[in-house]
Amino acid sequence: MIKVVKFGGSSLASAEQFRKVKEILSADSKRRYVVPSAPGKRHKNDTKVTDMLYTCYELAQADGDYKPVLRKIRARYNEIINGLKLNMSLDDEFAAIEENFKNKAGIDYAASRGEYLNGILMSRYIGYDFIDAAEVIRFDKKGNFDPDTTNKILKERLKKTERAVIPGFYGATADGQVKTFSRGGSDITGSIVAKASKADLYENWTDVSGFLIADPRIIEKPQVIKVITYRELRELSYMGATVLHEDAIFPVRKEGIPINIKNTNAPDDPGTFIVESTCQKPEFTITGIAGKQGFVAVNIEKDMMNSEIGFGRKVLAAFEENQISFEHTPSGIDTFTVFVHQEEFEGKEQSVLSAIHRLAEPDSIDLEADLSLIAVVGRGMRSTRGTAGRIFSALAHANINVKMIDQGSSELNVIIGVSNDDFVQAIRAIYDIFVVTRL
Ligand code: ASP
Repeated sequence: MIKVVKFGGSSLASAEQFRKVKEILSADSKRRYVVPSAPGKRHKNDTKVTDMLYTCYELAQADGDYKPVLRKIRARYNEIINGLKLNMSLDDEFAAIEENFKNKAGIDYAASRGEYLNGILMSRYIGYDFIDAAEVIRFDKKGNFDPDTTNKILKERLKKTERAVIPGFYGATADGQVKTFSRGGSDITGSIVAKASKADLYENWTDVSGFLIADPRIIEKPQVIKVITYRELRELSYMGATVLHEDAIFPVRKEGIPINIKNTNAPDDPGTFIVESTCQKPEFTITGIAGKQGFVAVNIEKDMMNSEIGFGRKVLAAFEENQISFEHTPSGIDTFTVFVHQEEFEGKEQSVLSAIHRLAEPDSIDLEADLSLIAVVGRGMRSTRGTAGRIFSALAHANINVKMIDQGSSELNVIIGVSNDDFVQAIRAIYDIFVVTRL
């Protein structure tokens, strides 16, 4: 049995955190492949090593004084090395990095050094082999991740290694140019390693005990989701709930490898399991709630529109012309509404309106701004009657006016549109009815 374990930046921010990681690894010999992030924040006002690397490289590139920042980065690693009483030095590595910065090796190379150095440090501390991600994670010439080549190379390499540390966040093109994923991308590396090693489990260690049912800034101490499916996670992540990088699910999802979100600071907590499918009954009817603020509803009216073939296409073409993506399109007999992101829409609104008039010849168009969308997600809703009824009676009791309702055909989610002013209250009312009073 193989477990791939990825540790996030806060799990590796200090010597103390490294000790916790070592204990976690010693507690289970199946934890064979380790993917570290760069050292993150030790406290709230701290700076992540990755951010310091970006700053440092930008200074070097502009021929500014990058040395103080580089010294600070070095101090972060030395603090860990000394704290762990390791007999090692990263001096040669730092000399090479400085040289490459001067030679303008690229911003991706610079950013990747956080994980690279942490990987070397970690491998020395726990006695695992070190595999440089630049040798096994492949990007194509355009800078896109190349999953097939990576899987081939990585599979072969891992076969030769019983236990290894593979730094997260970066890889390289065939000719050795370092490329990174987007921020938070070590999650993706973990997933890629899990796939290549045909792992039984991908453990993603962070600083929370799993995925929460609702945003803790809105709900005080929300419950943790015990089991969530990949599809449910997609719905919630899309609506702004984040624990895991969005792209991290794809490599493991196809292989049916579950992900377990775990807390380095509370390793006995079960955390959240992210799975392909489950017959385990969810604890509550809903799995989670998430929402986003800042939408505009573009309401279009035209008598007899429902019998006009191609009306929807013409309306949407007006948005396409203006390079605006739409979120939802609830419609009535003579009305058609398009929900769009306010930020994206504001600067182009008149151009969109004139395009709709030109293409679809409506009777009138009316705009409603400052709206929020809330997604109530749960596989349990499919088999439970009256979920929608309960949502709306909870909202009615809280005196909230519902502007839009959209239930996906998967019956996995209900999307509700409310005014921005009602956003927080609406989430609280829904959480209350399903989780607190367990209706
Ligand atoms: N260190 C990188 C970042 O801060 C990648 C990661 O931690 O996953 O974005």
